[in-house]
Amino acid sequence: MQISGDYAVRIGFSAAIQYSDNMPHTEAVRRQYLEAMGIPLWERRMATAPTVLDSTVDAPSNIAASSVDVTDAGASPEWLVLEEAVRSCTKCGLHSTRTQTVFGVGNRRAQWMFVGEAPGADEDRQGEPFVGAAGKLLNAMIAALGLKREDVYIANVLKCRPPNNRDPQANEVEQCEPYLIRQIELIQPKLIVALGRHAAHSLLKTDLALARLRGQSLSYQNIPLVVTYHPAYLLRTPSDKRKAWEDLRRARAIISQAATP
Ligand code: URA
Repeated sequence: MQISGDYAVRIGFSAAIQYSDNMPHTEAVRRQYLEAMGIPLWERRMATAPTVLDSTVDAPSNIAASSVDVTDAGASPEWLVLEEAVRSCTKCGLHSTRTQTVFGVGNRRAQWMFVGEAPGADEDRQGEPFVGAAGKLLNAMIAALGLKREDVYIANVLKCRPPNNRDPQANEVEQCEPYLIRQIELIQPKLIVALGRHAAHSLLKTDLALARLRGQSLSYQNIPLVVTYHPAYLLRTPSDKRKAWEDLRRARAIISQAATP
């Protein structure tokens, strides 16, 4: 990103964004989310409309964030069977401590699939992944990409909450991951974003450190897979949000390339 000091105005992490009348509302909203992620924006001074100098950040999205009617895909027998299998699952000990299972949420024909680790207390209570504080940040990350939560699909490796939010155990992952694998098979996303090391390790069958997996060209069953930080980690370590944004931009480039004939 080439920015000369005199030419650019840095909008700080916490500084209020000044919107101009001619900035489209959706762009303003996207910028708000970028700010929430802690991603500073650089703008040209004197420009009639604010211009983000990094074209990959500001490029009009050519990703079809289609609002597909999911009712037909959602009602298919395959999905109903899978939902019921998860709902009634007792394959590991977590069934005895859960309030309810947390299946997954979003567009069942999504191009983007985000995979987290396991439900936390909020998710266990509400039955939906990423609805707590980490979920708010994930929503901001999704919105910063120019997408809506309903456009993507969000699931976890584990469908039940580990007590006290402890790490998933190997036998729990082993019993539960077939559900995630089936979700991926049914959705056939164009790209998977693995949020954190547990999702990455489960999908890639590796135990390499997250730092070694970030930035690598990876795939799961021929579906490109990008590894990034878990939003809960980013809440504890906001200085790494910039690196997460780099990962998401790379993911967006991969999916855009795939869409180019
Ligand atoms: N963390 C996860 O990995 N998944 C959730 O659904 C919530 C928090």
